Amino acid sequence: MEPQTIQVRNPATLEQIVELPVASARDVGAAVARARQVQVNWQNTSFFERAECLYRLRDLLLDEADRLADILTAETGRPRAEVYGNELFYLCSAISTWAKKADEYLRPTRIKPSFPLLKAKKVISTYAPRGVIGIISPWNFPLTMTLGEAIPALMAGNAVIIKPSELTPLSAMFAAESATKSGFPEHLLQVVIGYGATAEALVDQADMIAFTGSVETGKRVMRRAADRLIPVSLELGGKDPLIVLKDADLERAAGACVWGALMNCGQICTSIERVYVEAPVYQPFIDKVVEKVRAIRQGPSADPVDLGSMTSEAQLEKIAAQVDAAVAAGARVLTGGRRNPAHRGFYYEPTVLVDVTHSMNIMTEETFGPVIPIMKVDDAVAALRLANDSRYGLSASIFSRDKKAAMDLAERLQSGAVCVNDSLVNFIIPDAPMGGRKDSGFGYRHGAEGIRKFCHQKTIVVDRLGLKEEFPWYPATAKKAGQVRHLLNLLCHTGWRHKLNAFKGLLTR
Ligand code: NAD
Repeated sequence: MEPQTIQVRNPATLEQIVELPVASARDVGAAVARARQVQVNWQNTSFFERAECLYRLRDLLLDEADRLADILTAETGRPRAEVYGNELFYLCSAISTWAKKADEYLRPTRIKPSFPLLKAKKVISTYAPRGVIGIISPWNFPLTMTLGEAIPALMAGNAVIIKPSELTPLSAMFAAESATKSGFPEHLLQVVIGYGATAEALVDQADMIAFTGSVETGKRVMRRAADRLIPVSLELGGKDPLIVLKDADLERAAGACVWGALMNCGQICTSIERVYVEAPVYQPFIDKVVEKVRAIRQGPSADPVDLGSMTSEAQLEKIAAQVDAAVAAGARVLTGGRRNPAHRGFYYEPTVLVDVTHSMNIMTEETFGPVIPIMKVDDAVAALRLANDSRYGLSASIFSRDKKAAMDLAERLQSGAVCVNDSLVNFIIPDAPMGGRKDSGFGYRHGAEGIRKFCHQKTIVVDRLGLKEEFPWYPATAKKAGQVRHLLNLLCHTGWRHKLNAFKGLLTR
């Protein structure tokens, strides 16, 4: 039995921030009913009107950036700088992109039939909103994963109900409040607070679920959605590899590795979670990484720090267990490797591990924490084999001065995105599709698919010739059947087409 309230705690100080009542299935039903009512009018607004609301929301978020940072740092334990540099940056970028591009992505498009006998038909493809979208989200980016996903759904003409993580519900509540203040109709964007049961009630009543979270919960969501045959998009976990080739700019590669692995304390689906380095540059690369990691300042958000605490205690324990198991199996800790004793909250020291192998969980299972396990490889082929030896396929990074070799490797990596000579950056480009393969899920956020998934696609076929009857209509006659057969032979049969071309050739001699 789940508790009836949620006690939101600051993971950096372990102090309770607030206690919130949990929404029951009935509460979720009431929220869905309110959303359905308001969505009817919202779907008739123009893209321009929807974009105007978004631009006002962007202004409000910027005006209220300090309050937003207070809320986000309190519920996640992150440094303030990350709130501005990541969450706020992402939302500004997402609002600017969707406000501008929704119209283009969802505009009715003309389709020209390829088959000659169908060319007389006018074919148009259109997009209509699905209705009420349920967004179920994790705790690692409490605003990006909630409001960030809601923006394209709203731009497509839907109402949205967010079930944020039970660990970080406050920023989603702030987002819904801000949306109403910015001119979005009341109840168009709502938040329901709770644990798994509240989320399940949303799956039982919404018209589509956009889920971001762990593989196990994602599968549960999909099974439940199958009973109602509603679509789901699943953005799940990752174990993203970084490959460093021997001709790489090592300074840049090490900087991108440390940032890509440790940003938000490694609690990013696309964090770098394992590193493969070609033998000739293995040691110098490690030296640079260790030097940079040792320079990182970890502590409470009030201080000027690079790294905060973990958000989830369960995740902290999972990381410690993975690192301890790796060390017991022969891995060496070059720095970190333990809970940070200087702080009371969920702090884990940024950690570099070497002498790791693919028989260790630290190289195969998602860590979602500030750990950089580094492995020496003979060449790019070995790196590629190991990078693809994973049940996940979200993102990856490659460092090499040979852009052609890097592109070739990128093509062969089994992942939804690859950054060449960079890390993490693909996630903050809302124009580019972002999705996973294998256990990392399916469906896309961002790009055309990132908004079309929130729509029904409809094909409209219009007759242009106005004939009294069409060829295949009743009555069926032997004469018609013969004519169709001749026509199909003439147009499609390779032998007949050869004969026809030969005949044409004779005529032009
Ligand atoms: P989680 O799966 O535990 O929880 C995610 C959400 O699902 C929460 O809101 C939770 O309350 C809800 N939930 C719990 N039980 C449920 C049920 N039975 N039915 C429906 N919903 C239920 O994940 P988490 O620990 O909050 O987040 C970490 C995970 O999220 C990591 O695996 C990470 O990789 C993943 N993630 C993926 C992406 C991506 O874009 N691919 C982005 C961010 C995080």
